[in-house]
Amino acid sequence: MTDKKTKNPPVYTGPESINNPDELIRKRCSSCKEYKPFDDFYNNRTSGDGKDSRCIECVKQYWKEYSVRVAARRAEYRKARSADPIVRENIRKYAKKYAASPEHAERIRELARKNYRKRKDAQKAESLAHATKSPNDEVDDSAGVRSALPDTTAKMPR
Ligand SMILES: [Zn+2]
Repeated sequence: MTDKKTKNPPVYTGPESINNPDELIRKRCSSCKEYKPFDDFYNNRTSGDGKDSRCIECVKQYWKEYSVRVAARRAEYRKARSADPIVRENIRKYAKKYAASPEHAERIRELARKNYRKRKDAQKAESLAHATKSPNDEVDDSAGVRSALPDTTAKMPR
């Protein structure tokens, strides 16, 4: 795929055999150099024939490669930035400032509350599981314990 950007004003790049009416609806793609039906080109009001110079397939391919290029450039930029000592220092300073702000303190409190609730729920679930499990454990231990237990096992379906 050639990627030359033509700076020339829009020129009619349509069918070469313009006198042949059958060929009038075809146009040569400036990228893949193939002759394709007009429908295979996007409309472009600024071009001479009202169609893009590149076929839809080539345009799609271009944008696909473009997004890959942009992502790579962005990753490179981020990497370079995070390696920059000035940027690192600024980030460190900002983090310090943020850590001292009431906004941050509130966030920490909220996280602590959430964590506390989560732990409490987990504890509750665990103790519940333990409570339903323990009678059976004790029943398996010895006959003496079994007879000493209140008669709750009788109600349980076996
Ligand atoms: Zn093409």
